[in-house]
Amino acid sequence: MSDVPVTRSSLRRLGLVIGEARAEALEDAAQRARAEMQGSTLWNVSSTAVGGGVAEMLRVLVGYILDADIETRWCVVSGDGDFFATTKRIHNQLHGYSFGEHLSEKDVTTYRRMTESYGRALAERVKPHDVVLLHDPQTTGMAPQLVERGAHVIWRCHVGTERPDGNAEAAWQLLRPYLEVCEAFVFSLSAYVPALLQDRDVVIIPPSIDPFSAKNRDLTDEEVRGILEDAGIVQAERTPPGVAGGHRPLVSRPARVFREQAPLDVRTPAVVQVSRWDRLKDMPGVMEGFLEHVPSESPAHLLLVGPDSAGVSDDPEGAEVFHQCRSMWEALDEENRRRVSLVCLPLDDVDENALMVNAVQRHATVVVQKSLAEGFGLTVAEAMWKGRAVVASGVGGISEQVTADTGVLLGDPSDLDAYGRTLSSLLADTERIGALGANAHRRVRDHYLGDRHLIQYGTLITRLRLRASGAG
Ligand code: UDP
Repeated sequence: MSDVPVTRSSLRRLGLVIGEARAEALEDAAQRARAEMQGSTLWNVSSTAVGGGVAEMLRVLVGYILDADIETRWCVVSGDGDFFATTKRIHNQLHGYSFGEHLSEKDVTTYRRMTESYGRALAERVKPHDVVLLHDPQTTGMAPQLVERGAHVIWRCHVGTERPDGNAEAAWQLLRPYLEVCEAFVFSLSAYVPALLQDRDVVIIPPSIDPFSAKNRDLTDEEVRGILEDAGIVQAERTPPGVAGGHRPLVSRPARVFREQAPLDVRTPAVVQVSRWDRLKDMPGVMEGFLEHVPSESPAHLLLVGPDSAGVSDDPEGAEVFHQCRSMWEALDEENRRRVSLVCLPLDDVDENALMVNAVQRHATVVVQKSLAEGFGLTVAEAMWKGRAVVASGVGGISEQVTADTGVLLGDPSDLDAYGRTLSSLLADTERIGALGANAHRRVRDHYLGDRHLIQYGTLITRLRLRASGAG
């Protein structure tokens, strides 16, 4: 287990986008939480510090909690290949998918052994009455040791399926003994709460994004252009850094870009999906649907963008899915290969990676998120905040985020024809793109920023502490 260093994020600055009334409510909630947590620590435990939505969200939330002067820590479990292969199977099964690899007895043993040892290690650091938020199945098995230590243990689930099947049920059965000892549960979506938690203390708290993080902060057109040029994603037209009159670089490492032609002309309309290389994000389907159903006369270019797979420690599928996309792209004829680029963003510096994601999303004419299943889909909120029009699968948290006037939902994510046709007609309608994007930005401002998220957590923690003191 290791601690993740986090810097403060200013709660006061959030007031600049949420307005006075919301800022005051946030300030009140922060004061109450500070008083409530006096002498105790708020712990978050997850499986990785970089790559994926949980890491993204914790970086921001923990930063705000620090700014509220609440003692807080974020720890990640340092599992090995076997452990993360097991937890990836649990993750996929909770989403209702198995991809032919069902949980085995060995998986159960590996899971028990590893999570128990993490639980013991953390219990040595946790004090009675501390609050511990365990994120996702990778950490659920730590609960018994922490409960025994006297901590309030909350399990925060970021995954699930609206149509539970045998896959999901098997994964829930593995987690059941640990869930039984947790005090409360947080889900992003009510449809994801399994039957076995029906009579328990469950709260629905959708995630949020930070408008001031490197991932989402405003960038001028010039900055977007500079980042994309320096990352090698679009053709450099300005004087390069290091030469007299050259621009100051915002990113120092290039992306690995697989493309047929010279870097993309910045004027080319771009269709972008940013995701981990994960089977459930269906990057191959995004490519196939684009090539087969968006007419080849369209000037649009598809950018499939993900992290350099070596960087995401808890995701053993990443390299495999990227190679699948790469082989598929290499097997295309030249004309089709010219219509698509695969982009791997370096993860050595989290802020540089975030700036690249920010610039690519802002550069997009349309952002796609054609996931087969999705917990919440932070990439959708990120794109909407940037005023992008999105075409996304109507699954999981995406269908809560995207409404008819803020984007286009796909009824069946596996229907490539419908996806391609939807994309083509949107690409041809600049006015609609603009209107959807403007509404999308407002929707994120109203529903998916940190104040709502933090206030909900504050309320939950207060309830648990009051209950423990016999006052609730
Ligand atoms: N992301 C990133 N770098 C990348 C690809 C993705 O920082 O190269 C981020 C993305 O911006 C988003 C998160 O990873 O913040 C993905 O979260 P989401 O909820 O969309 O899906 P998850 O990966 O958690 O399933």
